[in-house]
Amino acid sequence: MSPRGVKVAMKCPFCGRALELVEDGERVWFGCAGCLRYVVASKCELVRRYINRKRRVFNWRGIVLELYSLYASGWRQL
Ligand SMILES: [Zn+2]
Repeated sequence: MSPRGVKVAMKCPFCGRALELVEDGERVWFGCAGCLRYVVASKCELVRRYINRKRRVFNWRGIVLELYSLYASGWRQL
């Protein structure tokens, strides 16, 4: 399975490009293809925290906001 990237409606605070969200098998990468800076999070962990089982919805917006604040606060390896 090749990773696929999804552009998100947020700009890189460092270079102004659209940020992207990339999934691989077990992780989600969020960052900028221009700066080659990404924050990485475990998919299982995100699903556990952001799925609303009662309503069967997945809170993508919450995930993106969390990853963005992590990304914007500086380069940090998770
Ligand atoms: Zn950038």
